[in-house]
Amino acid sequence: MKKLFAANWKLHKTPAETRAFFKAWKDKAGSLSADRAQVVFFPTAICLEAASQELADAGFEWGAQNCYFEDKGAFTGETSAQAVQSLGGRWILIGHSERRSIFGETDELCAKKIKKVQDLGLTPMFCIGETLQERESGKTFDVLKDQLIKGLAHADKTKPLAIAYEPVWAIGTGKVAGPEQVQEAHQFLFEQIKSMGLSTATPLLYGGSVKADNAGALGKIPHVDGFLVGGASLEVDSFLAIAKAAQ
Ligand code: PEP
Repeated sequence: MKKLFAANWKLHKTPAETRAFFKAWKDKAGSLSADRAQVVFFPTAICLEAASQELADAGFEWGAQNCYFEDKGAFTGETSAQAVQSLGGRWILIGHSERRSIFGETDELCAKKIKKVQDLGLTPMFCIGETLQERESGKTFDVLKDQLIKGLAHADKTKPLAIAYEPVWAIGTGKVAGPEQVQEAHQFLFEQIKSMGLSTATPLLYGGSVKADNAGALGKIPHVDGFLVGGASLEVDSFLAIAKAAQ
């Protein structure tokens, strides 16, 4: 399976900075193997039009960091998946831990969004992961199972989906999960999606302080099909180095 490298830009970059990044990316990323690496960018909503224009026919995909589950209506401040699709976006990130912890998103809300995204023919990248407290109290696998069951309650098993395992304590902290922790979590997720009747080809990404110097080793762990990268995806060279190390 091709490795999938996803860039979560969070609340960073203006449209002009987005354009400058993609111009530099297109100059340098030609050395990535199209057979071995698939790349998806998640800029902020206001930068999606810039992504759409800069990445048209460039061989790299993009999508939004969030969407609402309705197409239109009195939902001030929201972004519709339909609008993302109209610009050519193919992906939506759902349930990132910052959406959950800062904006109060629940698995039930994620489930509605995943249904909407799949109904439109886009691919949801569903983020799950335990907090440090949950890990330390031995609840990691219960939490992951619960998030999968509730978040995928309305998912269509025949439609594309990606899952990003992001231990909350490893996001933006510089604390990468150890190889054994990643290995056992990904093995668990693989077994879990199989028992839920989801495709075993569903990409399982790891996220949490991935950098060029740990990507190679993490990428060799069974059932690690790619990475969701925050901080290190903001610079062309550091993101490219991750993809090259692990493709
Ligand atoms: C993320 O935002 O999904 C993430 C994994 O961030 P970082 O790579 O900075 O830990």
